[in-house]
Amino acid sequence: MERTSNTMPPGTMREAVIDTSAIAANTRHLRRLAGVDELIAVVKADGYGHGAVRAARAALEGGATRLGVADIGEALALRRAGIVAPVVAWLHAPGVSFAEAAVCDIEIGVSSFDQLLQAADAASIDRPVSVHLKIETGLSRNGIAPEDQPVVFAEAARLERLGKVRVVSIFSHLSNAGVDDDLAATRAFERGVIAAASAGLNPPLRHLAATEAAIDRPEARMNCIRVGIGIYGLSPFADRSSGELGLRPAMTLRAAVAAVRRVPAGQGVSYGYDYRTPRATTLALVPLGYADGVPRQASGAGPVTIGGRRFTVAGRVAMDQFVVDVGDAPVAVGDEVVLFGDPTLGVPAATEWADAAGTINYDIVTRIGARVPRRQASS
Ligand SMILES: *Cc1c(COP(=O)(O)O)cnc(C)c1O
Repeated sequence: MERTSNTMPPGTMREAVIDTSAIAANTRHLRRLAGVDELIAVVKADGYGHGAVRAARAALEGGATRLGVADIGEALALRRAGIVAPVVAWLHAPGVSFAEAAVCDIEIGVSSFDQLLQAADAASIDRPVSVHLKIETGLSRNGIAPEDQPVVFAEAARLERLGKVRVVSIFSHLSNAGVDDDLAATRAFERGVIAAASAGLNPPLRHLAATEAAIDRPEARMNCIRVGIGIYGLSPFADRSSGELGLRPAMTLRAAVAAVRRVPAGQGVSYGYDYRTPRATTLALVPLGYADGVPRQASGAGPVTIGGRRFTVAGRVAMDQFVVDVGDAPVAVGDEVVLFGDPTLGVPAATEWADAAGTINYDIVTRIGARVPRRQASS
């Protein structure tokens, strides 16, 4: 029989191949589409599993002007890797000191009066701490409530005059609950910006839109967007593929077939025998499991391609491995198994794994475990 499969590099069991040129191109595409002055590339959670440092470098090359992360620790890791671009972090431990962040020029997302004072405390004599003031517009997470805004904004303006803080932006985050809710949140945001101006704050940036709104809610783009999933080439929409949005998925998760065996009809497969072979067939063992982030919930459902042919996980995903029933296809040890990547190349999309597991594509790429080496695409 003619062999059509690609083989994996010898000695490689599993890997996530990261195409950084896709991250750069996606960033460029989104910035052009939104027509904004600035783009904050969100590289939290290890760059949604792609590697924060490589994602940050690629996004900056693609025209990002700033980087965004959740934690100060994530921001400091970018600095330690030699990244000098502005970085903002917006989720803080109670009572945290911003001293180290200030020394490393990390910008602080401030969601309360107390955080504002803590940020000002970290200022040195001649260097203010840069802050982004986060306002609540409906998501019900952190953010300065409308009734607290006059007091917080007045204090921010006073601290700015004293040279303790520099207010870089007013920002918020949308719920993506629908057109009407997003419009109401956008109006609330605009009221916050006006309240800031009447307190004497005129920050250069206003950012509200993450990827979904950057694409679908022009009125929410303000003069800066703050995008994550889109720069990794994945669609935030259930009904539109990355290709339809002009985005290219940056991560390909693949493994080498670790074993094949020919079995008769009625053979039980994997723990619990949830799957039994309907006929004599070939089983291929794939060395990726839930410890690597392959969702166990996708047992019996997750798609793969081997040599351009599509198969489905047979039985349960185990900690380190799962089995695929490949029928009579000529699959051999060492053949490349692709779990997901760029669907325009004929491989499954991360979104298909999300559907199989009852989750979203964000979760699929972000959960890929530390045991999976990331390799930068050589192209
Ligand atoms: C994660 C996050 C983003 C990025 O959202 P995407 O949908 O991935 O573009 C933007 N802003 C905040 C506050 C976030 O937490």
